[in-house]
Amino acid sequence: MTKITIAKGDGIGPEIMDATLDIILAAGARIETEEIEVGEKVYLAGNTSGISAESWDVIRRNKVFLKAPITTPQGGGYKSLNVTTRKFLGLYSNVRPCMSLHPFVSTKHPIMDVVIVRENEEDLYAGIEHQQTDEVVQCLKLISRPGCEKIVRYAFEYAKQQKRKKVTCFTKDNIMKQTDGLFHKVFDEIAKEYPEIENEHWIIDIGAAKMADTPEAFDVIVMPNLYGDVLSDVAAQITGSVGLAGSANIGEECAMFEAIHGSAPRRAGQNLANPSGLLQGAIMMLNHIGQTDIAEKVHNAWLTTIEEGTHTYDIYKEGISKEKVGTKEFAKAVIANLGKKPSILKAVSYANSAPLNLPKYTRKPAGDKKLVGVDLFVHWPGNDPNALAELVKGIESNNVKLTMITNRGIKVWPEGFKETFCTDHWRCRFKPTAGAEITKKDIIELLSNALSKNIDAIKTENLYSFNGVDAFSMGQGQ
Ligand code: NAD
Repeated sequence: MTKITIAKGDGIGPEIMDATLDIILAAGARIETEEIEVGEKVYLAGNTSGISAESWDVIRRNKVFLKAPITTPQGGGYKSLNVTTRKFLGLYSNVRPCMSLHPFVSTKHPIMDVVIVRENEEDLYAGIEHQQTDEVVQCLKLISRPGCEKIVRYAFEYAKQQKRKKVTCFTKDNIMKQTDGLFHKVFDEIAKEYPEIENEHWIIDIGAAKMADTPEAFDVIVMPNLYGDVLSDVAAQITGSVGLAGSANIGEECAMFEAIHGSAPRRAGQNLANPSGLLQGAIMMLNHIGQTDIAEKVHNAWLTTIEEGTHTYDIYKEGISKEKVGTKEFAKAVIANLGKKPSILKAVSYANSAPLNLPKYTRKPAGDKKLVGVDLFVHWPGNDPNALAELVKGIESNNVKLTMITNRGIKVWPEGFKETFCTDHWRCRFKPTAGAEITKKDIIELLSNALSKNIDAIKTENLYSFNGVDAFSMGQGQ
């Protein structure tokens, strides 16, 4: 018997949770549930994270969490409970199988069977944003080696276990050579450990286009957080319905399982909603807790029900569907099919689906890190980069000189283009003169000089080399 935490959520949440639990318990799931309250009521009671401290205790104690969708109230101050849960619990891996159910659910892609493995904790979702000048705000994109190693290894281990043939990596490393570059580099390193699985890398733009057009060209796709967020919805949608997909959020200690759709408030309380997305989440949960026999039984009964044409309104289609049913009736039909296997759709087998036991990340020895320069960011409302260069040269020291100014990354001094549009946010790059070194004291001196000359320095970024290789981007046009 495994104790799991459940939250019935908002909108259609309670109905689809009841249906899901009815089905898996009827199938013999060896689970005991402990319910917590999350979502709208908790938010509106004044808790801006949508969850109480006691509920965190329950989730952490049981380690397995089946969550129905919740409504995040509109307006400022309310934090997304999903993002908070993923980050607090270190749920680094988001897994979304997206499979067509042709000819029973209409889709333009009848043979699609793609699993998106999305990094779930970092990237632009670190949520570190600042306004720095009147005209410019920034969001920090953080990509870490542990983050990349964990998610890429997860994708390959998942592919190996599920007997999948290929893992594809999507990044934009032709532009983001440091951040996406690291993700791609780690992908290439880890791929070598799995010679039996094909691997490939696509630039995200053309990769996404290919996935939307010819999804059968892909098998498992691993990608950083933001791309994964967008493309996992695209992938689910093109199978025929976002209402049919579930997702697993897996960490080293805990895991959360859910439907990918939201709380559909307009459909709430009418016995209309399709419980399939949450049921898919529950099937992944059963596999995760080692109850693969039950997971397989439920999944095959569900496929049989879809194949019989017993459909909720969202996938009901005249000519294909046989009967339009509500949430409860759909659950009853799945229960009646327990023990059956589909005859046209491919039956699933979860014989090999024990929880993946991945090694913990071990920190690598420190590299040889050397300070080689500094970028000083300046808020300056002028337009002429040459005038700014003259001003900023006034803060140089004997051995640290201004070498470049960029605006939104584009080199505007020396020798910029007069056509380049400039904002009030400027990056001034300082490097030591030939043969000289730069130290942190030089940076403090630059800042102190800027202060005395009334230059509005908004931040600095140190430029480092690691093991003799410059580890920062050049200016565009440099
Ligand atoms: P939604 O997914 O709730 O609904 C989008 C459309 O799909 C609607 O037309 C809806 O009726 C339909 N739909 C969704 N699930 C369905 C189901 N199971 N059966 C039948 N039809 C279904 O997205 P939304 O309208 O953008 O968001 C509504 C609320 O859900 C918002 O408050 C949002 O913040 C929240 N949300 C929560 C989660 C989550 O908790 N994981 C995810 C996404 C959105």
